[in-house]
Amino acid sequence: MMMCKDIQPLTSPRVVKELMARYGVSFKKGLGQNFLIDRNILVKIIKAAELDREDVVLEIGAGIGTLTRELANAAKQVVAIEIDSRLFPILDETLSGCSNVKLIQGDVLKLDIKQLVRQYFGGQPFKVVGNLPYYITTPVLMMFLESGLPYESMVVMVQKEVAQRMTAVAGTKDYGMLSIAVQYYTCPEIVAVASANVFIPPPKVDSAIVLLKRRSNPPVHVQDSELFFKVVRAAFGQRRKTILNALTALELEGVDKGRLYDVLSKCSIAPKMRGEDLTIQQYADIANELCLEEQKG
Ligand code: SAM
Repeated sequence: MMMCKDIQPLTSPRVVKELMARYGVSFKKGLGQNFLIDRNILVKIIKAAELDREDVVLEIGAGIGTLTRELANAAKQVVAIEIDSRLFPILDETLSGCSNVKLIQGDVLKLDIKQLVRQYFGGQPFKVVGNLPYYITTPVLMMFLESGLPYESMVVMVQKEVAQRMTAVAGTKDYGMLSIAVQYYTCPEIVAVASANVFIPPPKVDSAIVLLKRRSNPPVHVQDSELFFKVVRAAFGQRRKTILNALTALELEGVDKGRLYDVLSKCSIAPKMRGEDLTIQQYADIANELCLEEQKG
């Protein structure tokens, strides 16, 4: 396997600034361009991904290739997506010799990822790694979680608050739709917290590396996952509402408020409880009971 050509370390702020200046490129704040300049954090991301020479990796947001190079040196193949075409001449230089890297220019939320992974990885399960642009963290995560794509794990650098939401449990202030979606599909773990100084330019917030290991089965039995997420969304869409009122607003066919009352009672859930107090198991219970009600018509 060809290793990337040895170059000056991209974790050096001087090297990053020199590269950007030489190619006449400025940091685009709107694209979340905060580049990693901390070797320790880089190592932690690579370690969390548990890469070996058989692994194929999809990287989100290549930037100037800091993480891409490390991925290329640890895995069999890397497909890296980057939206900003201005960075490609820099990437040509920094990824020189990295023969196992394929760069794709485009928006990760608009590209046909299914087609992309089929084309480059065949049916092989892949790992997602990315120091994510913070303005699209949640949509990117939701897209992968709900995609049905054969990813094995995701290692993502996200805003610390988002990492806390991903791992939050019922009854805490961070608990919400994202916690449930992440925990339904994966086992999330905060691997490390990083201060803003690990980036150039430093963002206004702290960050965290999160490892999401895909579950082979959800932690709860759900008859109809679409209905389950509909219920969860309704409960958190209107956080101030009681669970009874949130469910009523769903206007499920043939299920009036009286029957909803019965559904909650069968699940031993007080109608006055709020979305943030219900566990994933309780959401599953509600959805499964509603499924039965719908079948009754
Ligand atoms: N991986 C590099 C690193 O660790 O230094 C860059 C990380 S930087 C936080 C995020 C990168 O994602 C930027 O290079 C940015 O241009 C890119 N990006 C922003 N929005 C994107 C999108 N919708 N699709 C793909 N890449 C995007």
